[in-house]
Amino acid sequence: MKVFFALLFILKSSLQMEIIGSDEDRLTWTFKGDMATKNARSVETSVLWPSGYVPFIIDQFAGFDYYDLQIIRESAAELTFDTGTCIVFHQIDQPPPFGDPYVLITRSGGCWAALGMIGRPSMQKVSLDGDCLSSHKFVKHQLLHALGVLHEHQRRDRDRYVSIRWSNIYPGYETGFDIDWNGDVFTPYDYESIMHYPSHAYSLNGFATITRRDNGDNRRLGSAFDTTFDDIAKVKAAYRCYW
Ligand SMILES: [Zn+2]
Repeated sequence: MKVFFALLFILKSSLQMEIIGSDEDRLTWTFKGDMATKNARSVETSVLWPSGYVPFIIDQFAGFDYYDLQIIRESAAELTFDTGTCIVFHQIDQPPPFGDPYVLITRSGGCWAALGMIGRPSMQKVSLDGDCLSSHKFVKHQLLHALGVLHEHQRRDRDRYVSIRWSNIYPGYETGFDIDWNGDVFTPYDYESIMHYPSHAYSLNGFATITRRDNGDNRRLGSAFDTTFDDIAKVKAAYRCYW
């Protein structure tokens, strides 16, 4: 069995919506308005997609242009390829039969995704609006949420690696910094993960909201331009793909 180091979080009982964007500094992506809300969804429905198969429809009424479609399809294809088809994002034209679940990629006010497979209703959305189509990174961030991947800085052991500066967080966005105790960890803590907020995410006052505890460079938080080794490894571990 392949050894997966430490790693990631699969949220088992909540639905997360979020909005992300980027600031003017293209070197340090800043998330704006990433809003997490949780409801009391029952826990009997697994959040993992059976066999890692994720059918998706691109909303033809969402107004995606050629370049938008290209980045969406490439992001889905790259995740499929990079996981060695552990995960298969498969574009379909019609909802699958028998009410089987699928993802509708659309524009629905910001950049957000339901966390993991919801199951009922069968359609669940990934909203890609505005800045989140400016980078494969942002599209993949949302597709990873759809797979059940939690933010790196919300995993249960995060306090060993980062400090949350609560007083610097814009009021109302604190939930995006809460630990998610329902998640499982499979890979080492990954400061640069595309699922990690940057150091100044949701800053109220211009000061950092997340800082490293290892004296490392805070600018590297969430700095990866694409999925990291462990972003992929955590998905494969969660879906039990040992290749
Ligand atoms: Zn997110």
